Amino acid sequence: MKQTDIVICGGGMVGLTLGLAAAQGGLGVAVVDTLSPEKALDAGFDGRVSALAYSSVRMLTALGVWPHMAGQAQPITEILVTDGKPDAPASPFSLHFDSAEVGAPSLGHIVENRHIRAALYAAIPANLSYIAPAGVTALEQAPGHVIVHLSTGEKIRSALAVAADGRDSKLRGQQGIGVVGWSYPQTGIVATVAHERPHNGVAYEHFLPSGPFAILPMTQNRSSLVWTEARSKAPAMMALGEDEFNAEVARRFGSHLGATKVVGGRWSYPLSFHLARDFVRPRFALAGDCAHGIHPIAGQGLNLGLKDAAALVETLLDAARLGRDIGALDTLKRYERWRRFDSLAMAASTDALNRLFSNDIAPLRHLRDLGLGIVDSIGPARRFFMRHAGGDIGKLPKLLKGEAA
Ligand SMILES: Cc1cc2nc3c(=O)[nH]c(=O)nc-3n(C[C@H](O)[C@H](O)[C@H](O)COP(=O)(O)OP(=O)(O)OC[C@H]3O[C@@H](n4cnc5c(N)ncnc54)[C@H](O)[C@@H]3O)c2cc1C
Repeated sequence: MKQTDIVICGGGMVGLTLGLAAAQGGLGVAVVDTLSPEKALDAGFDGRVSALAYSSVRMLTALGVWPHMAGQAQPITEILVTDGKPDAPASPFSLHFDSAEVGAPSLGHIVENRHIRAALYAAIPANLSYIAPAGVTALEQAPGHVIVHLSTGEKIRSALAVAADGRDSKLRGQQGIGVVGWSYPQTGIVATVAHERPHNGVAYEHFLPSGPFAILPMTQNRSSLVWTEARSKAPAMMALGEDEFNAEVARRFGSHLGATKVVGGRWSYPLSFHLARDFVRPRFALAGDCAHGIHPIAGQGLNLGLKDAAALVETLLDAARLGRDIGALDTLKRYERWRRFDSLAMAASTDALNRLFSNDIAPLRHLRDLGLGIVDSIGPARRFFMRHAGGDIGKLPKLLKGEAA
């Protein structure tokens, strides 16, 4: 039977980053994914981009992954937050974040998910065995180790199994870990738009009655839309012909970048919230969307998962240096204490933001507009939110500071 230190079940953006970090720290790692890299990199598979916080960029740089995607990354220089309705001018109260105010060249970067995945694959080192396409079907606890069963019939013996198998994780349930969660009555529609005028690196978060409409600047003068629509209306929008879909986009997008045209496909994602009741069991840990699924309103889901990866690797390497068992529950509990509260705080604040902004109730609208105006007029509050969005809050794992774990 094959033997390694860690098996990571799920080689998505979080699982693979975790694998790279653990392997660079000297641990033997196997990452298993049901999808082949060819499928995961297919342009039709995932049309999303990710807003990578600057702490995440520091981590990807420290791991040697960033150079593989830097050419495809669009810096975000400013973020403008407004409240409004389709076809109507935005409220005069807005919130404006400018990277110059915090003395940084950018507030983060926008990168297409397929380019992030390609960069991660390109950085795979020799001591990481990437097994795909293959699914993890079961985990078998044994004294001092865990046996990971794969759909190929192969078994791997290791000190620790990590589930990074996404929102609908089967392994989480198999190991008896429940979740607290609910569905939002919203769908995230994603598309790429080419526009006449340059975006100059400005990202827009326009709050509409059905939810946030985010316009994220991409390379080649394109922008990515994350259009939160009522779940009941989303299928009709997705089924529109090209001209009608372009017209609906334009109603929400506004005319600040001139004429717009959707390029490429459309994707839709049901939106939901969940938080795992526990992040660890003996010889088992959760990371990324498997541990927490949050609303995309603040573009923080992947950033949160990368923080899990950085904290887990640091915990494991510290234990290994002291000659301790990396799969022991007391080792893993340190990771859980580190990440649980931060995940809960981010999940709760994105949930509250979505509830506050995704409606057209007049008193609430006035209150939140006033809130935007107040935060905008207070420099330290603005700078606090910028640091928060940049992931520079709380006890940062070394990798997020750009240091080796
Ligand atoms: C519309 C939208 C916009 C978003 N925008 C942003 C953003 O701007 N910034 C940001 O930080 N986040 C954003 N997010 C969130 C982000 O996309 C997720 O948090 C992130 O993709 C989670 O990565 P993951 O690796 O944890 O999970 P996943 O991407 O779900 O990967 C899980 C992997 O596990 C594999 N797998 C599943 N089961 C098994 C099994 N049994 N065995 C082996 N492999 C298995 C799957 O094939 C998959 O590759 C957004 C989300 C949405 C819906």
